[in-house]
Amino acid sequence: MNLFSESPLVGFIVLDIVIVVLLYSAAYVGYLAILRHPRNWRPIPAWEKVLVTLSLILNVVFCSASATGVDFPALVASGIFLVFLLLIIGAPAFALNQGAPIQWEVLARHSDRLVLGLLPVVIITGYWLASIKLNALFGIAIFIELLWLLRLHRANQFRIQQPLNEHSLAVLQTQAGDNLEVFIRKHRIRELVRYDDEIHWMGCSKHSPPCPINYYVNKLGLNTPPCCLEHLKDLCFAIDQLLMDMAIPHWIDGGTLLGAVREDGHFLAWEDDIDISFMLEDSISRDAFVSELTFKLTQHGYMVRNPGEYKPIYIYYTPPTRWLYGLEQHRYRSEIRVDLVGNRVVKSYGQKVMERSLLKGAMSQTESGRYGVPVEMIMPTREIELLGKMVSCPRDSDAYLRTLYGNYTEVDYTYVDKEVAHTRRNVDEADDA
Ligand SMILES: [Zn+2]
Repeated sequence: MNLFSESPLVGFIVLDIVIVVLLYSAAYVGYLAILRHPRNWRPIPAWEKVLVTLSLILNVVFCSASATGVDFPALVASGIFLVFLLLIIGAPAFALNQGAPIQWEVLARHSDRLVLGLLPVVIITGYWLASIKLNALFGIAIFIELLWLLRLHRANQFRIQQPLNEHSLAVLQTQAGDNLEVFIRKHRIRELVRYDDEIHWMGCSKHSPPCPINYYVNKLGLNTPPCCLEHLKDLCFAIDQLLMDMAIPHWIDGGTLLGAVREDGHFLAWEDDIDISFMLEDSISRDAFVSELTFKLTQHGYMVRNPGEYKPIYIYYTPPTRWLYGLEQHRYRSEIRVDLVGNRVVKSYGQKVMERSLLKGAMSQTESGRYGVPVEMIMPTREIELLGKMVSCPRDSDAYLRTLYGNYTEVDYTYVDKEVAHTRRNVDEADDA
C-alpha cells in the first residue's frame, strides 16, 4: 500500500517538512561559514552577508506561505525565532571584535542557557499556532542546537585538570581585582576550578573543545592557559619537523618569532596562534605542496584547511573531522592553530625579495603589489631555541622583527582590550622589578 497515493495531502506535508529541513540546514551551514570572519577579526564580505540574509528570508517566506495567502502569525514567529537563534549562535564570534557591544558578550556567555530556554517557548508557540511548516522549522533548529550542546558536553569530558603557574595566577588575580569568585562567575570561566583550596585549570585536550583563548587572552587580558600553550608547542614542532623532512625552507614568524627572540625561547604569555612561513622554489607547485602536506598532517592527526592561494594554510590541533563538524568549530571562541604562509623569491625593483601575498607588520610593498623583505634577511635560515628545541628562523631575526614591528624589544599589548591592557602591564612590570 502506498501512503502517498492513498492520501496526496500526506505527501504534501512530508514534502513541506523536507523543504523546511533543507532550507534551514542550508542557512545554518552558510551562517557557520561566515562566522570564520568575525572570529578572526575580519569583516564579513558583503556577498556572504547577502547570501545568508537571502537564505533566512527564504526560510521565513516558505514557512509563512499557505494556499490561502500569507500566514502572518507564522511569518512573525519564524522571523523572530530565526533572528534570535542566529544571534545566539553568532554571539561568541561577534563578541570577540574590538568595541563589540556588551550585548554580544552577554548572549555569548549564556548561549547554552538561552537555547534551553527557547525550548518551552517554541513548544508553546508551535502548539498554539499549529502550523506544520513552523513546527518543522522549530524542530530541526532546536534538534541541531541540542545536538551541538550534547556534543559539547561530551567533548568537555576530555578536559584534563592541571595547575596554573605563578605568573598566570598573578595575572588572573590582577584582572579579577578584589573578588576572584565574582570574576569567574561573571565571565563564566568554566575551566577554572577550586580543588584542595588551590585554583586549577580544566585544560583542553585533543578531543575536547579548545579553551576560549581568544576571549580570555584578548578580552580579559589573561595568559594563554598551560594546556593551549602545550598544544601550540606540539603543533609548532610537528610542522617544523615535517617541513624539514620535506626539505622546504621555513621559519617561525610574527609573534612566535618575537617570543623566541624577546622572551628567551618562550612563547608570548598571550600567544593565541603559531606563525610559520615557508618558501617554495619555482619548480614546486603550491597545489602539489599542499596535497603532500595535508596527507602527512592528516596522518599525524591534525586538521588542515586550505582556503586558497592568497590565504594562509590553516593547520589545527584538532583531529581531522567531518565537514559539518569542522564548520561548527566556528562556534568555539578559539582554536589551536598554525598559520602557514607561503613565499616565493621574486625580483622587485631590481632586488631579490622574499614575497608573500599577506601583509605582516610593516613589510613594504613589492613591485607586483604583494609584500616582502630582502631575501638575505631570511635566507639561508638559521635555528633558534624555542621551548627547549631548535627550530628554523630567519637569518637575521633582529632585522626582520624590526621591519615588522619597529622597536620590538618594548612590549606592546596590541591584542589585549584597552581597559585590561593597563592592569596587565602592571603585573608584568612588577614581575620584572
Ligand atoms: Zn586549553
